[in-house]
Amino acid sequence: MALIDPKGLRATPYPLPFHRLIESFRSLPGIGIKTATKLAFHLLKVPEEEVERLARELGRLREELVLCPTCQNIMEQTLEETSTCALCCDLSRDGSTIMVVEDVQTLYAVERSGEFRGLYHVLMGRLSPLEGITPEALRIRELHARVETGEVHELIIATSPTTEGEATALYLSRLFKPMGLRVSRIAFGIPIGLELEYVDDITLIRSVEARRPM
Ligand SMILES: [Zn+2]
Repeated sequence: MALIDPKGLRATPYPLPFHRLIESFRSLPGIGIKTATKLAFHLLKVPEEEVERLARELGRLREELVLCPTCQNIMEQTLEETSTCALCCDLSRDGSTIMVVEDVQTLYAVERSGEFRGLYHVLMGRLSPLEGITPEALRIRELHARVETGEVHELIIATSPTTEGEATALYLSRLFKPMGLRVSRIAFGIPIGLELEYVDDITLIRSVEARRPM
């Protein structure tokens, strides 16, 4: 019996467990029905241990990864509750400059460029009144606490050049400038509306170097 695709597009002729696997793959970004089906068939062909290893890794992903209590970067869970991520622990980095990013992906995009030696703060999103994302929903309180230690002198706001990213940057600037901080916005040779995580390294390095005061 052909199953009805949940999206109502087409029926698939596969047994239910196989169909469910295809649908799980399809729910991932950038994966359409063709790739999803190819991946599912691939897993039927490889040795069982390989499939089990993949299943184990998926299961452990959320169990063993936690967010850094300081910057909200992802880190491996440790027994000590006070431990922070490798970046926050790195004493060779400049703790007086914090780059504020929307998500962990952007943090790693900047980190890959190898040019920025300060610390980060991940907001876990951006302001979007339409979607009900208010300042309270972001990790702004945590950033405020870091600034209050007096060790931070500059914030580089690296939110995306989208309407919401700009609104977030403006909000942060208005919040933190009165606290005596230098607040700058990365410059964009980046097409408006493009998500930062997809920008190439060189463009990203230049946009950080050419940051402008807000
Ligand atoms: Zn951290």
